[in-house]
Amino acid sequence: MTKQNMIDTAPDEVFAAYRQVNLIDAKRVPANAALDVTAPATGLVLGQAAASDADETAAAVASAKTAQIAWAQVPARERGKRVAAAARAVAENAELIAQVLARETGKAIRTECRGEVAVAADIIEFYGGLGSELKGQTVPYNPRMLTMTTREPLGVVAAIVPWNVPLVLFALKIGPALVAGNSVVLKSSEEAPFATFLMAEIMMAHLPAGVLNVVNGTGAVCGNALTGHPDIAKITFTGSEAVGEAIYKVGASRIIPVSLELGGKSPMIVCEDADLDKAVAGAISGMRFTRQGQSCTAASRIYVHDSLMDAFMERLGAQLDKLVIGDPLDEATDVGTIINARQIATINGYVARAEATEGATVTRYGQLPKDAALSPDLFVQPTILSGLPDDHPCVMEEIFGPVAVVQRWSDYDQVIELANSTHYGLAASVWTRSLHVALDSTSRLNAGYVQVNQNLTIQPNVSYGGFGRSGLGKEASLEAMLEHFTRSKTIVMNFD
Ligand code: NAD
Repeated sequence: MTKQNMIDTAPDEVFAAYRQVNLIDAKRVPANAALDVTAPATGLVLGQAAASDADETAAAVASAKTAQIAWAQVPARERGKRVAAAARAVAENAELIAQVLARETGKAIRTECRGEVAVAADIIEFYGGLGSELKGQTVPYNPRMLTMTTREPLGVVAAIVPWNVPLVLFALKIGPALVAGNSVVLKSSEEAPFATFLMAEIMMAHLPAGVLNVVNGTGAVCGNALTGHPDIAKITFTGSEAVGEAIYKVGASRIIPVSLELGGKSPMIVCEDADLDKAVAGAISGMRFTRQGQSCTAASRIYVHDSLMDAFMERLGAQLDKLVIGDPLDEATDVGTIINARQIATINGYVARAEATEGATVTRYGQLPKDAALSPDLFVQPTILSGLPDDHPCVMEEIFGPVAVVQRWSDYDQVIELANSTHYGLAASVWTRSLHVALDSTSRLNAGYVQVNQNLTIQPNVSYGGFGRSGLGKEASLEAMLEHFTRSKTIVMNFD
């Protein structure tokens, strides 16, 4: 696989090309150790990715540090144009990237992976147009004095992504960081690194060497070495709450800014006057059943008004039964696999606790695939839990699988209280025809991203981020670039 022509490249060539290498200074640099990357759908090893140690990670930081000095001097609009060109190159190679992503994540090519690459390219292109928005302010202090603020890049940004939507999360970090004049060292997820490497290398052809570097490895070795490196000026992390907390402490020890996008248990409140069909469709898309529920914003706590509960469950079940679970590469498949056995054990553990709870109902929908070539252990049927106590672990904690809790409610104030009862605060939605209820509930819900009558995924120009233990800071939007990838300098000039 050459770096220039990828149109006719097969996914296997991609796995071979990134065998045990990092992308440093726009080159494939061999690493000393490797770890296997497995296709969740088949259990077969796809390839070996770098298992970078601290020195290999530091080499990427050194490259980024050198490159950032010149990159910050490139006019902001020009930086934006180069980033936008990189985004278009990603879009041109979208099918190959999606094919690689489907193999390594187990997510279905048709319902998930193609869309993810398109959204990632769109986010990066959006940021490419924002170079001239890196504006400061002037302050009316004295007519013969000039007092102003300027927006400066931070330096080298450490960006760390998980496996569930690695490319969209890559885009949300790399787009604004680069346009703002920072350089980046991205750590890919060791579970699914290859699509990230491919997308990054495609982008590198449009960027100065060293501005974007990618390292792979475990969190404990490579991730720790990256976040703890003294030349890192900012950490932007998406992943689990526990790792986010640890990374926040690393940032605190060096007093550098840290953005965290962590977990969630997002409530969806279906009111008595809701459009039922719309709400059922919103529950399925919001719960990201086609991503096996592996989404931080998954609408995994659905509170349905008592008067609609039976009809809601019936229509939801009928729709879930239609989802085709199977080979992620098959165009007929709606739902692929869970990422790994560890995650399956977590999901099964939660479902077992629901099954052991008196009064609870556990219903599984759809058919598990029978294809002998597939690895049966990593497929899970969409599952609905109901009748659980409101403080049950399945109601309060993130499961990160295709398991949603549907609870009945009748008292409006109480359901708002229940919706706010977890320590998360990522997203929420309310389904109603009443403007009064919409205004009241959206102001009272403790979540960073609240929607009414929809459960849309990330939009490039709409800021997104959690409250509470769902994280710190925003992603997407101009606001996110200005607040999280620049620093504001005050300059006062006196010619009096
Ligand atoms: P994870 O926290 O285990 O790993 C995420 C990344 O962090 C990986 O690249 C991993 O190698 C790295 N890492 C692990 N330990 C590290 C350390 N000590 N130092 C530095 N890096 C380290 O998460 P995961 O299991 O890959 O992803 C699932 C989690 O991600 C879920 O909790 C989900 O809610 C969250 N998530 C949040 C969002 C959001 O936008 N809020 C989006 C997607 C996923």
